[in-house]
Amino acid sequence: MHKLQQQFQAQIQELVDACVRVAELGYVTSHGGNLSYRVAENVVLITPTKVAKRKIRFDDICIINMEGSVLYAKEGRKPTGETPFHLRIFARRPDVKGIVHAHPPVMTGFAIASTDLLALPTLPEPIIEVGPMLTVEYEEPLTEALAQAFDDKLDYANAFLMKNHGALVVSTDCVERALDFFEMMEAAAKSLLVAKLLGGVDLLSREDVENLERTMKTRHLPMPGAPGKVSGLVELFFGKK
Ligand SMILES: [Zn+2]
Repeated sequence: MHKLQQQFQAQIQELVDACVRVAELGYVTSHGGNLSYRVAENVVLITPTKVAKRKIRFDDICIINMEGSVLYAKEGRKPTGETPFHLRIFARRPDVKGIVHAHPPVMTGFAIASTDLLALPTLPEPIIEVGPMLTVEYEEPLTEALAQAFDDKLDYANAFLMKNHGALVVSTDCVERALDFFEMMEAAAKSLLVAKLLGGVDLLSREDVENLERTMKTRHLPMPGAPGKVSGLVELFFGKK
């Protein structure tokens, strides 16, 4: 076993488990989606290109540094073609540890339909745990332009709808938590879709959001986005006064 595999054995296994789970959840098809996990300042675990997520095993996970140089890859494996946006997000958000990008059918539908429902205050738990889901403009997959598309939103959220493409969620804890949040947002999207079908979506009021913000501050929970960039939920959802 490579010495980095030995050193980060538990985290590699966590990433493998997340890959299998993202496939079982039906959030990826064929070789779609990619996940990464920053396990040290200059060490990133990342999924390989052209391997179905449900088939990924311990040895398949590539290990790279923040410049994108490969520190470990099994013969025949190389890091995902979307490595540029993973590394750009890690570079611009030093607090982020785990990233999940996938194409879950319901959220991706939202990304095609140009609805901002997932950026509005509707459900308390997703607000507290994830925050608003902001839309990132369409750019062709595997391009540097797609990596740059996140730049102006990255400081203000931990979840992103990628226009006409899919979704991306980050966690400041680990890759498993990023997938938990991803699952939470896909469930929220399903509920919003049902609400729409049943006649409409009632938003939480400004007062409701003020109360949630107070609860988060009492519990010392971090606001969404980069540390220090967002002062509170009311500012996020309703703008500055
Ligand atoms: Zn994709």
